[in-house]
Amino acid sequence: MTGAEMPGWRGLIDKAWELLREAPLCDNCLGRMFALLGRGWSNRERGDALKRAIVMMLHAAIREGDEEAKKAFLDLAPNIGRQAETLYEELTGSKLEPRPCVICGGDLEEFIRRVSTEAARLLRERCRVRSFLVAAHVEPAIRMAEEEFKQRFMLRYAESIGSEVKREVGKRVQASTGIPVDFDSPDALLEVHIPSGRVELKLMPLLIRGIYWKPARRVSQSAWITATGVKKYPFSVEEALAPLLRLYGGEELILHASGREDVDVRMLGTGRPFIVEVKRPTNRLTPLREAEERVNAWARRLVEVRLLGEARRRDVREIKEEKSRHVKVYRALVVSSEPVTAEDLARIEEEFRNRIVRQRTPRRVRHRRPDIVRERMVYAVKTRLLTPRCFEALVKCEGGLYVKELVDGDGGDTRPSFADVIKKELYCAELDVVAFEGIG
Ligand SMILES: [Zn+2]
Repeated sequence: MTGAEMPGWRGLIDKAWELLREAPLCDNCLGRMFALLGRGWSNRERGDALKRAIVMMLHAAIREGDEEAKKAFLDLAPNIGRQAETLYEELTGSKLEPRPCVICGGDLEEFIRRVSTEAARLLRERCRVRSFLVAAHVEPAIRMAEEEFKQRFMLRYAESIGSEVKREVGKRVQASTGIPVDFDSPDALLEVHIPSGRVELKLMPLLIRGIYWKPARRVSQSAWITATGVKKYPFSVEEALAPLLRLYGGEELILHASGREDVDVRMLGTGRPFIVEVKRPTNRLTPLREAEERVNAWARRLVEVRLLGEARRRDVREIKEEKSRHVKVYRALVVSSEPVTAEDLARIEEEFRNRIVRQRTPRRVRHRRPDIVRERMVYAVKTRLLTPRCFEALVKCEGGLYVKELVDGDGGDTRPSFADVIKKELYCAELDVVAFEGIG
């Protein structure tokens, strides 16, 4: 550039001057109006630089004997603050009384320092976490004041007070605690209220992916409490996971499973996938391996679990939707009213090869589930005669099929059924899930 004025330079100082003539602004709030200009500086540094430049320009004019510049400086000094202190005292012989910032109500730098100390204390003393993120809750009046400022003075390079507080507090808390910021899935959220300076610690739920087996019968999936407040079954999968609540210092535990088996049905073989959610965990540092051992020791083979890793919120939705897409293999122990022949079993195997079965919601659950008719595929059945009136059947079918009713026909509400096909009265005495697999 030769000879010409520096482009943009005068305009920038004019704008800062206009803003300060209008209202007092702390260094951070002034600097933030130009946050996108210059790299690697804080807004405090931007505001400080602009204020010093303005003071220097006015001082130059005052030294040239410009009385108007002196008047302008004396008017502006309380809105500028510390950068004008010494010159003000020299010119007037009295102490400058700065006005509080019109946006943040004081000095944002002091606010950030105070809030960072409190946030770091909460993170150190109230929980054991691996990461955190700062969120800002800005009072509407402040947001509106800032917005109005930006529009009126056409400040195209500004950022919001919330963004500045989030970034600055995050940097300082990370530096003082050694715990890193995580924008994606933090363990803890520090919510800063502006302008009160209140900091709230929010502990994000811990989600753990796992598989459970139920080698015992009469174990429900969730604790089943009757209308009279009595536990219907002595133990549940949910109760088996209870040690997690203590280990992770949580307040509540929720089991999200991919479907469920009946209370009297064992879950064997591949096991059933689940996600367990621990609400408000104060300690995220327990290793999964240790948690798994504690759960299994406590559940005493009524339930067994394997904990595979941490999950995201969207995995919970997926695991719940997944259940109907799965193929399951059941083992049923079937008892007959009269002797069963090898021909009977051969007919069952033949009839139920890729066969669609129509089922009305079984009578035994119709009082608590919607009464609908559903169609499910039975892919294959393999049988083995154990005694003249008792046989075992392996049933490979689509998830959601009621297998007990596939055996006995539910008084004609499931068609076709094993009982139908061989014209004998059948009863499913025992049922196990032996495999749980994706269709792929
Ligand atoms: Zn301010």
